[in-house]
Amino acid sequence: MPRLPRTTGTFTLGAAAVVTLALAVPPALALPAAGAPAPDADPVPALVAGTDTAAPQLVTGLSDPAPGDPAPAALAHLAAHPDRYRIDTGELAELGSTQGPDGRRTVRFEQRHGGIPVLGGQYLVHLTGQGAGQKVRSAGGRYFTGLTAPTTPAVPAGTLRQAALAELPDPRSRDAATAEDLGAVILPGGGGRLAEHYTVRDPAAGTAREVYVDATTGTVALAHDARAPRPATAPATTATTADGLQPATGTAPDAHGRTAPVHIAKRADGTYQFTDLTRPAPITTYDADGRDAGDFDHVPVPADALPASSPTPDFPAATGEHGATDAHVNAGIVYDFYRDRLGRDGLDGKGGAIVSVVNASDGGKPFPNAFWDGSKMVYGSGPGYYPFSAALDVAAHEMTHGVVEHTADLFALGQPGAMNEGISDYFGNAIEATARGLSMDDPAAALLGEGLCRSGTPQACAQRRLDDHRTTDADYLGTRYEIDQGGAHYNSTIFSGALWDIRRTLDPLTADRVVYHALADYLTPLDDFTAGRDAVLSAGRDLGLTKRQLRSVAAAFDAHGITPGWQKRLGTDSRTLLQNVSNGMATPAVARGHWLILGDGPAGTGLYTGTVDGRGTPVRLSPEDGRIHSWATTDGTNAVWAAMGGPQGAGQEVLTAPLSGAGPVRGVFRSTSTAQQLGNARISGTDIAFTLTENGHTRPYLSHDGGAPVPLPVPEGHNASELALKDGLLAWNETWRDGDGPLVTVPTLYSVAAGKVTARYAEHAPAGTGPSSATSLTLAGGRLLWLDLPADHTRRATIRSAPLDGSGITDLLSGGSPNAPRSTALTASDQAVTYRVDSDKPAGGWTNAALPKLWQVPLTGGTPQRLSCDRGGQYEAAADQGTRVIWLDATTGRTDLVVRDRPAGTC
Ligand SMILES: [Zn+2]
Repeated sequence: MPRLPRTTGTFTLGAAAVVTLALAVPPALALPAAGAPAPDADPVPALVAGTDTAAPQLVTGLSDPAPGDPAPAALAHLAAHPDRYRIDTGELAELGSTQGPDGRRTVRFEQRHGGIPVLGGQYLVHLTGQGAGQKVRSAGGRYFTGLTAPTTPAVPAGTLRQAALAELPDPRSRDAATAEDLGAVILPGGGGRLAEHYTVRDPAAGTAREVYVDATTGTVALAHDARAPRPATAPATTATTADGLQPATGTAPDAHGRTAPVHIAKRADGTYQFTDLTRPAPITTYDADGRDAGDFDHVPVPADALPASSPTPDFPAATGEHGATDAHVNAGIVYDFYRDRLGRDGLDGKGGAIVSVVNASDGGKPFPNAFWDGSKMVYGSGPGYYPFSAALDVAAHEMTHGVVEHTADLFALGQPGAMNEGISDYFGNAIEATARGLSMDDPAAALLGEGLCRSGTPQACAQRRLDDHRTTDADYLGTRYEIDQGGAHYNSTIFSGALWDIRRTLDPLTADRVVYHALADYLTPLDDFTAGRDAVLSAGRDLGLTKRQLRSVAAAFDAHGITPGWQKRLGTDSRTLLQNVSNGMATPAVARGHWLILGDGPAGTGLYTGTVDGRGTPVRLSPEDGRIHSWATTDGTNAVWAAMGGPQGAGQEVLTAPLSGAGPVRGVFRSTSTAQQLGNARISGTDIAFTLTENGHTRPYLSHDGGAPVPLPVPEGHNASELALKDGLLAWNETWRDGDGPLVTVPTLYSVAAGKVTARYAEHAPAGTGPSSATSLTLAGGRLLWLDLPADHTRRATIRSAPLDGSGITDLLSGGSPNAPRSTALTASDQAVTYRVDSDKPAGGWTNAALPKLWQVPLTGGTPQRLSCDRGGQYEAAADQGTRVIWLDATTGRTDLVVRDRPAGTC
């Protein structure tokens, strides 16, 4: 919907792991080249190569005989061309098929891996003709070749569920939270990952999150807000029954106080309710009566929530004031549009029940929002607004989310998320314009939600406008998924703007059919903008658009910067070292010009290493042994990391190997039980350190000169975390609680040669700054550095710098300075300290300028400067030598490992 869910977009300084998935990557195009096609060229590409897969994304222009039933004929066609498709048809399961008015058929298949659905793995085959004359015209989608992920979990179900619940930021809410198990799924990327999918609901916060837990490691692989389409598991049972109901007509005032005729139903007891039985799909509208929207989110309508009711067929004013009349009437208008204009029977295409809930609150407070929860629409209202159901474009937007879910099922994150929102906006406005008779030249036609406000202009009220002329080049919000579901709302008008231009250029009916055909018969869940462009063009050709019309369609996408390879035009201020580093456990390490990161490369998912100067090809360092290898660090010569899960069981192991790949991978330490947790692996020369957590107690371990690791002494009741190891010194953060007091943190320094603690920095906080904690310990340039993080997260952190003898702590950068850190991210070389500044969500919504940015300050102090002028979000920095830093950058709509060759400077 127009507005973000209630609780997303909050920004804390906590070190929450941000997880991403290989989504929305630009296709590695075989052809055509970037830019506008030649005037007489066919704008529909003949073949588009896949990304991260050997299977093509799109093959058009076919005329291959394929007689027989459509689904077996489609499979036989794919199987008959193994070199072209690279698809194991034994891994395809038919999801359904559609038939166009001219006999065109589309068969949609889902990819399975060992019987387990592959997230976003769908392939479609398009057929024309009948019986013996049937032919395949085109095929495409996303089929992930090279999957090697296990199909049975290595981690017990109870542990996976605990990991899903632990994704909630506030531990206090975990007791009351629930984790609904939606089954196993393979996450694509490299060899794929086996994950268990949960919907985690936090009743206290009124939130629902989709959480995918890696079933090999027991760690969260992907998590995102659930207020977005996903397969419905529990249809609203109470709404589907028409038992005992008789069709009737009545009247009801709408939200504006106008009396409208309504299709209602008479109950056995002689009273009336808002159930419209005049269509194959019964339409029922409930009044939440101010209950929390979360009570209706991804769950059946509670039995004690009732449809809007009246003792007589003439409904009272409150029915209108609560938004029930508008929701009810608008649901019918949307149903009729899809049936009459596009030949679709309801949201699910099968005449399934259509359910709306109005008058929902945000925990008793106003809820000026609306959402599709996977099986129904939920609407609220707020001061200054009409009920959100009163806007036909908003109702049509939410209902189109239902259509999307039952067709392309576009994933609710990143570019597919932006297309999901954009297509919902397109039909939201198209349905309103059609029903109200608005011309495409009417400026209000392009506004979404412009009628919701009780005062002010439509322009000021509108949540989005499809004529905002946003382009990828100028406006693409380059963020990871923690903000606006990866720009799903913000970036949507880049795509929907192109669709709206097409509706203005072609006649509206033709445009609606083309967009719908693209949605229903070409798009697949993980498609990006350029795949969306190809889908619309292919759909246009199917529907008989002339070449001139097709070129106008292509021109509309061109005008919004949606062209093959558009990311390259963004002109980033950095150099890419590794593309599409999407794994949520991927944090880069670097030293002496050699980097290391968990990635999805040609040799599968694993630790890859390469040089910062970009010479040579990245090579895989970790063995292919079924385990996840992550949390790596390096001293520039050797790497150390943790291996988790795998066929040997859930135990963890600390491993080390030379970066050159020339030496063996050596085990340093292996945990003996699943109750033990290894972490913080560090290496410096012949010393390796790590932490072992057991029974809630975390201790540092040290392996000196290749010897067996030994635990270092930490007082009873104290924990050690956040190790830093450099040149014979090991730093850790010692934490404990004095009685009921706050958690005490003390940076502590241990000398490997002396075999004892040599310095404790109890005065870690600047004087008079209130409660705070030390974090992000770093050894660099003969100093110990850390962030002093104020308990009040709206304040900035101070960078503290101390000599190694424990004396004379100074503020390298005070939290009171402009551009001081706002995050827990700190990394340093012998010359410079680099940190991240996060911003709160701007009042007008997220902008690239407000996304996390990296700043750098000399180790000797000075004025901080932007490390990079890249437009989008910058994350996970790691300092190399001098002022050189590598980081994960999301500017281009995917997350790349990058470096900047010039020193920091003002942007
Ligand atoms: Zn939406």
